[in-house]
Amino acid sequence: MTSDSFAPAPLPAVSLPGRTALVTGGGSGIGRACALALAGAGATVHVVDRDGETAKAVAGETGGQPHVVDLADPAAVDTLPTAVDILINNAGLQHVAPLTEFPPERFELIQRVMVTAPFLLLRRTLPHMYAGRWGRVVNVSSVHGLRASPYKSAYVAAKHALEGLSKVAALEGAPYGVTSNCVNPGYVRTPLVEGQIRDQAAAHGIAPDQVLADVLLARSPVKRLLEADEVAAAVLWLCAPHAASVTGVSLPLDGGWTAG
Ligand code: NAD
Repeated sequence: MTSDSFAPAPLPAVSLPGRTALVTGGGSGIGRACALALAGAGATVHVVDRDGETAKAVAGETGGQPHVVDLADPAAVDTLPTAVDILINNAGLQHVAPLTEFPPERFELIQRVMVTAPFLLLRRTLPHMYAGRWGRVVNVSSVHGLRASPYKSAYVAAKHALEGLSKVAALEGAPYGVTSNCVNPGYVRTPLVEGQIRDQAAAHGIAPDQVLADVLLARSPVKRLLEADEVAAAVLWLCAPHAASVTGVSLPLDGGWTAG
């Protein structure tokens, strides 16, 4: 055997023509990056967001359809398309407070947007995927789907619930060629995270780089923020034909946080 035998074949580019994707929270950040990546691979994209301006902007960029919907409202979720081959459950929100002071209505809202809406969307779209014997569900979870942090009770509870939902969808979808997986980012560079870094640097009188390394990324051996495009690349990979046997997993993109 020559060494050439070990030369890997070039990886095929992910190609999804004829597939229809629905991305929640598609107007911003990770969702926008996913919508662009899926459209770049040839999929038709439904961009769902409660923010009409951004939903329309991303739909314009992707040649897709905007849907201005508040995912906290089950009746509004019921208006979304059912003929979907690729479901990206991405929309999310955060609230930081100790358990003893956590507003119950905020806790409940976070469960509705981050657990109930993904469940309702699975319920709506799986019959189409089952009928076509092909489907991809990617749930944008978090390192907080696998680990807890103080003061984030609603978010950590919701992401852990999403992990369970994803695994059930993997088991039920397997006979129909439908996979369901989670991606689990650590901190991703978004305007919100950059604002947190600036505020903490000012509050503690330390350099932004030090806030990043010692505060936000204290538990991450890799001391850099992830880019939204890096998360989208993993999501796209999970949607590809070659990932047909990858199901029920959670893929940490966390700079080694969960290895510790
Ligand atoms: P983002 O705030 O940039 O985008 C979230 C999008 O969801 C926004 O466009 C917002 O309008 C939409 N949204 C929120 N509530 C909604 C509702 N009720 N109905 C419809 N749309 C709604 O945030 P992001 O950082 O891109 O986060 C996307 C996902 O990635 C979230 O689930 C988040 O938990 C997860 N995540 C983010 C990070 C990070 O560091 N940014 C890390 C790990 C996981």
